[in-house]
Amino acid sequence: MNIVLLGAPGAGKGTQAAKLVASYDIPHISTGDILRAAVKASTPLGLEAKSYMDKGGLVPDTVVIGLVKERLKEADTDKGFVLDGFPRTSTQAVALASELAELGRDIDAAIAVQVDPEVIVGRLTSRRLCRSCGYIGSEADACCPLCFGEMYQRDDDRPETVRNRLEVYEQSTSPLIEYYRGSDLLVEIDGDRPADEVFASIQAALNTA
Ligand code: AMP
Repeated sequence: MNIVLLGAPGAGKGTQAAKLVASYDIPHISTGDILRAAVKASTPLGLEAKSYMDKGGLVPDTVVIGLVKERLKEADTDKGFVLDGFPRTSTQAVALASELAELGRDIDAAIAVQVDPEVIVGRLTSRRLCRSCGYIGSEADACCPLCFGEMYQRDDDRPETVRNRLEVYEQSTSPLIEYYRGSDLLVEIDGDRPADEVFASIQAALNTA
């Protein structure tokens, strides 16, 4: 199963990606995670990406497309993948389609998780993550409910950056909804519900896709 997850930052893509990975036994490819790891390790890629990420802007297409192309060549993607946070621009979407065509593969579904922007601002500014296992929780979690690790706030989840990320989403990424609708791959899911309900809808849609 080759899946693209679309949706604004904070729509719940990461949470749903984790459920898809567990359920279909396919790798999770999150460009945000790859970039954050590069920033943490202070690699040349990380140093370049950081300035864009800190402002809530997009890392240049050429950089991100190169990352994903390399990742899709790894053997674990033969059984499928969940792409989370990529594509984010029409240039990235076209590059993905041509890379997959070269590899003799196809996207099975582009799942758009839809959540009202006002709900998203609240979710993102209160979002906290576990430093040890990556669990996505909220400021209500004093420590990670899964592994008791320390919870922290992503730098780009601070209110001033969140607004910018949502604007960037509206401008650059939301047009991809129509792009995938045009290729008959779009599955629209109401993401303003408990995560398990959202996932049940995704599974139901994938079973008929
Ligand atoms: P995310 O974890 O998906 O919210 O991504 C965090 C940040 O990484 C974004 O705000 C961007 O700065 C950068 N980023 C992640 N994926 C992409 C992408 N596909 N294109 C450009 N920038 C990206």
